[in-house]
Amino acid sequence: MAVAPRYHFASDNYAGICPEAWAAMAEVNSGFAPSYGADLWTAQACDLLRDFFAADCQVFFVFNGTAANSLALSSLCRSYHSIICHDLAHIETDECGAPEFFSNGTKLLHIPGDHGKVDLAAVAHTVQRRSDIHYPKPRVLSLTQATELGTVYTPAEVAAAGALCRQLDLKLHMDGARFANALVTLGCTPAELSWRAGVDVLTFGGTKAGMAVGEAVIFFNKGLAEEFDYRCKQAGQLASKMRFLSAPWIGMLRDGAMLRHAAHANVCARKLAVELAAIPGVRIVHPCEADAVFVALAPTLIDALRGRGWHFYTFIGSGQARFMCSWNTTFADVEALVADVRELAAG
Ligand SMILES: *Cc1c(COP(=O)(O)O)cnc(C)c1O
Repeated sequence: MAVAPRYHFASDNYAGICPEAWAAMAEVNSGFAPSYGADLWTAQACDLLRDFFAADCQVFFVFNGTAANSLALSSLCRSYHSIICHDLAHIETDECGAPEFFSNGTKLLHIPGDHGKVDLAAVAHTVQRRSDIHYPKPRVLSLTQATELGTVYTPAEVAAAGALCRQLDLKLHMDGARFANALVTLGCTPAELSWRAGVDVLTFGGTKAGMAVGEAVIFFNKGLAEEFDYRCKQAGQLASKMRFLSAPWIGMLRDGAMLRHAAHANVCARKLAVELAAIPGVRIVHPCEADAVFVALAPTLIDALRGRGWHFYTFIGSGQARFMCSWNTTFADVEALVADVRELAAG
């Protein structure tokens, strides 16, 4: 008999659309409205983001994270520049060369660091080891917040990266596909974790936070946003019915749903990590600081869990299982997974 697939922990993009984002899309779905972002809801979404960050930032809405990152990075670089990032950065491992493509050849220089966080000494070394014309000129440091391994950079760590960037004449980009999860873990303000710490441009994730589609590209350094609208249009990232891309941000920000959902996902992940850690033979491999849990499991246990229908990734990091929570994960889902791991580990 075929086992029903259980997708609950595969990825936060396996979840559906949260009620607040869905309702906001329905609200703007009446009659006619100006296209390409000239509507009032898009203006309101931008204002809510400016309030959220307490900054006079420039905001653009695009369809997905690959576009957000690639276009933001290409606006910071020329083709002979380079971008420093972690070995496991999404821009390095999961964007199919889009940052290089959209920047006409800017090279990614990837460096190690524990638990998915770049080591600032390695950043400095990567910049300073060469200053000749044969080396792709370092121009940007890109941090992922929360990281691909479910850890977070504290405001002080981001600020240290920001200070190093100023010293080395680099711009600071942040891939914030899970920025909301990092925020609730750290309990700091959005400003402290971004522009006050020296972030020039942030790609702020909407999709994994509970929207159908869409990420916001936020330029705190507005000079860097020059002609970014043309870049979006040329790349096929200017939505004509923009209100459906912008309205979910209103739904998520006006009453705090963004942070509420992120906090829920984080709580589920923490509960999962704590309960799995108590099972003999199971080891948590990275600190659980956002909505992901990375676990070292015996290959036979991985196969047995898959045999019971559980879907989860093992290609991120180095072969461990990743269990990802979302706004829609329930404690019952967590308990069901834990029960299966416990039973299978007891063998
Ligand atoms: C999911 C994700 C993105 C965006 O991916 P798309 O599939 O292009 O929307 C960007 N960065 C990180 C770290 C991600 O996890």
